[in-house]
Amino acid sequence: MKFHELPTPCYVVDKALLEKNLEILNGVIKRTGCKIVLAQKAFSLYTLYPLIGKYLDGTTASGLFEARLGREEMGKENHIFAPAYREDEIDEIILLCDHIIFNSFSQLEKFKDKALAAGKKVGLRINPECSTQIGHAIYDPCSPGSRFGVTREHFRPELLDGVSGLHFHTLCQQNADDLETTLNAVEEKFGEWLGQMEWINFGGGHHITREDYDIPRLEACIKRMQQKYGLEVYLEPGEAVALNAGYLITTVLDTHQNGVEIAILDTSASCHMPDVLEMPYRPPLLGSSEPGEKPYTYRLGGQTCLTGDIIGDYSFDAPLKSGDRLVFADMAIYTMVKNTTFNGMPLPAIAVQDKDGNCEIIHQFGYQDFKMRLA
Ligand SMILES: *Cc1c(COP(=O)(O)O)cnc(C)c1O
Repeated sequence: MKFHELPTPCYVVDKALLEKNLEILNGVIKRTGCKIVLAQKAFSLYTLYPLIGKYLDGTTASGLFEARLGREEMGKENHIFAPAYREDEIDEIILLCDHIIFNSFSQLEKFKDKALAAGKKVGLRINPECSTQIGHAIYDPCSPGSRFGVTREHFRPELLDGVSGLHFHTLCQQNADDLETTLNAVEEKFGEWLGQMEWINFGGGHHITREDYDIPRLEACIKRMQQKYGLEVYLEPGEAVALNAGYLITTVLDTHQNGVEIAILDTSASCHMPDVLEMPYRPPLLGSSEPGEKPYTYRLGGQTCLTGDIIGDYSFDAPLKSGDRLVFADMAIYTMVKNTTFNGMPLPAIAVQDKDGNCEIIHQFGYQDFKMRLA
């Protein structure tokens, strides 16, 4: 099937673009000897895990289900971090995962013996209290009162027995200069204990595959930790793996006016691209421009009842009409993993496009997918 024949709404992941990202990440692995694992919460299209596993070292999970998916579908190194683990899940988590990272000393005390007895690596998440992002408190694990990681004030070196690594995750869509700033804070606050560790995990949020990302500076950060402390370095990006590697195709259902030109699409910001509202951001739309730049400007909205279910204002060369297809870009990450059936909206189909432009529909959803989550 060709791209223009796919049903809408439909997420399409472009394998060639994904592989371009994977090659960049694999270059960092090859040049530095670090390990990079996929943060599945951003992108869990497991059909492509065998391909991703050719370039990366494994997967990381936010909980039991992702851990199981990573083990089943990629089967390489499997890591996990969660703010707290459930007693009725920890045994299975330990079975599935190689690195188990704890968020507090109490969690560590509760579960570390079990994990160590099973031969697993135990890590502790630290909070270097170094905010490098502005105006983004909900994405800043170092914001005041954050529940993520142990701060220096609450660090208890006497309880580090059995802990082989430290983990921090403080970045979101950031460049290597912010990583460098964060590493300085990590060394200043926790440097004393880095020498006794085997590994350090830099978390995610590294926008490594973005055009302006400073890869040499990232590699210098990695080498600094390797050389100064003899540490194995892990990165666990989500976004960077599938950044700009997918689309969401939608069809215009209707147009009307209310002071502005309005187009209603068969997709929804709220249901199918929730980060557009939560982050918020304006997704790229192929063939369009900023409002007013081209002759015909439209406010693009979804089918739900939510007044704010607006993707944004875009301008076009020609008027939009019912039946036109629009293609949003950068729709691989934080989309499929976050979508909902609010208002009974159907979930978009999921397709993969190969290097020759052939598309295969991997999954289509229907009424049962809506009904089965309710009772
Ligand atoms: C979200 C998250 C990641 C991945 O973040 P990206 O911004 O998608 O790269 C990695 N590690 C942890 C602990 C996370 O919470």
